[in-house]
Amino acid sequence: MLKSIAVMTSGGDSPGMNAATRAVVRTALHAGVEVWGIHNGYHGLLDEEMFRMESKDVGDIIQRGGTFLGTARCKRFSTPEGRMLGYKNLVDRGIQGLVVIGGDGSLRGASILSEETGIPIVGLPGTIDNDVWGSEYTIGCDTAANTIIDAINKLRDTASAHRRVIVLEVMGRSSGWLAMTAGISGGAEYILVPEEEYDLDEICDDMKASYEKGKRYILVVVAEGAGKGYDIGKYISERAGLDTRVSKLGHIQRGGSPSVIDRVKASQLGEHAALAIISGLSDIVFGFDRGHVVSINLHDAVTNKKKLNPEFMRLAKILA
Ligand code: ADP
Repeated sequence: MLKSIAVMTSGGDSPGMNAATRAVVRTALHAGVEVWGIHNGYHGLLDEEMFRMESKDVGDIIQRGGTFLGTARCKRFSTPEGRMLGYKNLVDRGIQGLVVIGGDGSLRGASILSEETGIPIVGLPGTIDNDVWGSEYTIGCDTAANTIIDAINKLRDTASAHRRVIVLEVMGRSSGWLAMTAGISGGAEYILVPEEEYDLDEICDDMKASYEKGKRYILVVVAEGAGKGYDIGKYISERAGLDTRVSKLGHIQRGGSPSVIDRVKASQLGEHAALAIISGLSDIVFGFDRGHVVSINLHDAVTNKKKLNPEFMRLAKILA
């Protein structure tokens, strides 16, 4: 059994990372294990921004978005020298295992660190994109989807009043999960995702026909990886001749108080991560499958690409 562990958040922040950190810390302390917090991801690991944590250090954070530990992107960690320095900084403090909460990049870094140094590492998927292979859920995706729905509801009101086409660009460079989920629940007519090709000319013709039949407004949700909202909006307005407006939600999607689902699931994952790392397990990521917490091989999680559920894609087209 390990006597001292550390926890960090890394890469893009997501709502619920605090709930996960809190669960890791309190579960470890409950088991009588020393816990260190690392500020600013791998950057803090290399710059020795680490502190011993007590239960009260994670008080009053479960309701907050972002990550109180701070997060960062760190180029130096992508080099073997950088990772060796990180390892040394852990060993110098007697830290025997590390919990990394982050997206696929952070988990990839964690996997390499463990491979090179043998230090036990357990990952938790923290990203609004819901794109970590092996898990149907990542920490923060639910809150982000709800933030988009809130925007869609507001955009519908104004779109309907003016008979406009609204193009809403949401996050998702290589994953359309957010666009697809928010689009289905927001009743979007068209959902454009990086996983699927689309023909904008065909969409424009289809839109024109819908307007001629009396449609009042049309909502298009586009993931950033499937095209720039402003370019798509301009094209629609020129080609279809429809009054079109574009909104880009941007970083609003990253923030906000985490939803009930994100708080509960992040807490469950945090507990599992702490118990696993304490017992000496390594190279796993905890996620969800059919509603249950499951462990996923870390190497598999970072080398496979998660696919967008084809049922979502089918449903979106039927309901549009
Ligand atoms: P996310 O975790 O949200 O996907 P990034 O992809 O930016 O965010 O990854 C966060 C950090 O993880 C990077 O800044 C880098 O320090 C580390 N990292 C990412 N990919 C690798 C890799 N292939 N090797 C080592 N470290 C990596």
